[in-house]
Amino acid sequence: MPETIIVGAGLAGCVAAINLVREGRDVLVLERESRVGGSSLYHPGVAGTPIDLKAYEKYAGIDLLPGGAMGHDANIIVDGKKITANLEKHVDGYLVEQGPRSTSINTYLYELARKEGVKFEFNQPVIGEADFAKLPPDSIIATGLYFEGYDALNIPYLTSFHFISRMTRDDLESNHVSIYFGDFTSDYAYTSSMNGLVFAHVFQRDPIGKATLEAFKEKMYEAEGFEFPEFLHFTFPVPAASLNNPRLFAGNKIITGSLASCIEPFMFFGLHGAFVSGKIAATAVSDKEKAYREFLKCNRLYKTIYLAKKATKRFMYPALHLGMMFGMDRAANMMVQMPMAPRFTRNFKAIMPGYQNYTKMS
Ligand SMILES: Cc1cc2nc3c(=O)[nH]c(=O)nc-3n(C[C@H](O)[C@H](O)[C@H](O)COP(=O)(O)OP(=O)(O)OC[C@H]3O[C@@H](n4cnc5c(N)ncnc54)[C@H](O)[C@@H]3O)c2cc1C
Repeated sequence: MPETIIVGAGLAGCVAAINLVREGRDVLVLERESRVGGSSLYHPGVAGTPIDLKAYEKYAGIDLLPGGAMGHDANIIVDGKKITANLEKHVDGYLVEQGPRSTSINTYLYELARKEGVKFEFNQPVIGEADFAKLPPDSIIATGLYFEGYDALNIPYLTSFHFISRMTRDDLESNHVSIYFGDFTSDYAYTSSMNGLVFAHVFQRDPIGKATLEAFKEKMYEAEGFEFPEFLHFTFPVPAASLNNPRLFAGNKIITGSLASCIEPFMFFGLHGAFVSGKIAATAVSDKEKAYREFLKCNRLYKTIYLAKKATKRFMYPALHLGMMFGMDRAANMMVQMPMAPRFTRNFKAIMPGYQNYTKMS
């Protein structure tokens, strides 16, 4: 079969590549960096979202377990008040490291893809409309949270504003994630750790100033005693909610991962969205209708959630994160609070392979 080109050796790109090579296709992945793991500004880091890797394997047939590790402590810190739960005890909540280190999920997926026969070319940025237009039809674009892909394919986005820092510590015995909410940001912040790496990240969708960072540092010190080295400030695009986002196609190209807007926290959040939509993108190479049906199924609550989010801006993110950690059913019921809630949550379980086991908590 002719070669399928994938742009971006990130999570969605590698998942799509593995699925396609297993169908007997020749697959070539073009990556802008000289190695996997994305920009050295963003990563290495530990994602703040626990994910059920076992359920994902059932959905996509790719064993991601060796690329992650069980999360232990999960803390929610709201205006200085801390609730702690044990992820291992209550849910199958795994954490993953992102970036170029040998312990990251990126390295794991890359090695797996190579073993299965996927070809990679590094230092191959595909930038600008002309470059993208030169790619054969049905190429998969998986360029993640980087401006160039959105600009070249005319996908609407908002700019989000971030401060991050990282450090290595060999005295932390458990893998943790702590999500912070409070007046200091209209979104949220988190700290997370695994593989001896500790990560801190505060962001919001409006410009973010030093005062926000200082307030977060203070809260973090009070709650966890962490003192990070210098924080870096940067921006990256997040897909804008619109009638056409999320989307699976852009012209004659298939798009996936964050670029396809699979970043909506309640539906298709970052990592989860990349893993699920990578598989859907691979299906789209041979069967667009089937892939589109699956994509719509996975996104069907997007607009409802978008409107609900607008209406409940102040509380949406705390509720979402409580939900992700402590049981989607409860959070959905809490948020929806209307007769459709049971149906809503049933649908939710059906479409969210990665979150099914979050309902295990009694
Ligand atoms: C700092 C940070 C913190 C995050 N925290 C979380 C979290 O806590 N939980 C969560 O679920 N998600 C989180 N995310 C989001 C998550 O990382 C992404 O949603 C996920 O990686 C998306 O996967 P992807 O395959 O779409 O893109 P990526 O995994 O980012 O892969 C994109 C790849 O494409 C390459 N590329 C980009 N542009 C080009 C180009 N023009 N040509 C060729 N190659 C290109 C990049 O170098 C990269 O390798 C975070 C993201 C960042 C940046």
